Amino acid sequence: MTQEAISITKATTKKEKPASDQLVFGRTFTDHMFILDYEEEKGWFDPRIVPYQPISLDPATMVLHYGQTVFEGMKAYLTDQGDVNLFRPEKNMERLNRSNERMCIPSIDEEFALEAIKQLVKVDKDWIPSAPGTSLYIRPFIISTQPYLGVAPSKRYKFMVILSPVGAYYKEGINPIKIAVENEFVRAVKGGTGEAKTAGNYASSLKAQKTVAEKGYAQVLWLDGLEKKYVEEVGSMNVFFKIDGEIVTPELNGSILEGVTRNSVLQLLKYWNIPVSQRKISIEEVYQAYKAGKLEEAFGSGTAAVISPIGQLAWKDETVTINNGKTGEIAKRLYDTLTGIQYGVKEDPFNWISKLD
Ligand SMILES: *Cc1c(COP(=O)(O)O)cnc(C)c1O
Repeated sequence: MTQEAISITKATTKKEKPASDQLVFGRTFTDHMFILDYEEEKGWFDPRIVPYQPISLDPATMVLHYGQTVFEGMKAYLTDQGDVNLFRPEKNMERLNRSNERMCIPSIDEEFALEAIKQLVKVDKDWIPSAPGTSLYIRPFIISTQPYLGVAPSKRYKFMVILSPVGAYYKEGINPIKIAVENEFVRAVKGGTGEAKTAGNYASSLKAQKTVAEKGYAQVLWLDGLEKKYVEEVGSMNVFFKIDGEIVTPELNGSILEGVTRNSVLQLLKYWNIPVSQRKISIEEVYQAYKAGKLEEAFGSGTAAVISPIGQLAWKDETVTINNGKTGEIAKRLYDTLTGIQYGVKEDPFNWISKLD
């Protein structure tokens, strides 16, 4: 595993930074990026921070044909004191290696990868926006780069990290969204790649997402791929329901992506002595709870929105409005606590924050 020092080549011209109220997710990138190469005979080598630039690939490059690739998503937050906070970044590195394992990509030294991310963020520190709710999105990813049209694991890869300043997810405060339960398409099945953060899962979700967006829904709620009976997750968020005082989230079953935010929500709920269970939950049960007046809240969790309350659920011909379409008490408390910890204004009882020094 590489222990080489990271070389840094600084950009000679700096790009103009957009105003913080003009930031659109994933559109603007900073002045630098990180690259690390892999060849079968050498392992991972040549870690470098270079000016942000296009990469050139042979048209036969494997990732373009068979999608052997993984990615991560995390954020750097600027505090009022000028510190730069990362939120549980070691969990993202662990997950990157779990995704690698599933996709036959060689594992990466988690500590070294995190060190590379920290150095890159430091080089582009002046790109971290400071307006409330803004942050610097970090996108580490690995692509297979061998030029070869055979279906086999590649013998070459590139690990790269790019950074993108992002605006506040909620412009006017935390706000519930409308979700459509997907009854035709599926995201993942047991034994498939659902628990890996890999491109194909998102490519295959576009059709359903496009269909519901045309009807005014923000995201789809996926059901299990076999029976279309059990709740799995929402778009790129894990999902929680508050039923009769208890918080329920689908158990990890191999087809659900394990969110770092999901894990943090579970820890906070236990810390607050709020009853919580991870188990199978059918969409039928959610609707029955609603009819019995016991569906008190529903919300999604993920790095982008942190917590996203669900105000409306539509399944087949039946639409239900949850908590009068308002943000629930638990969703709000989780949102305030998680963002408070991320921006360094709330106590961090689990030592989740990793500061850049
Ligand atoms: C990334 C992602 C999540 C949320 O994970 P976080 O680590 O909380 O950001 C949930 N579901 C899917 C499908 C994802 O891609």
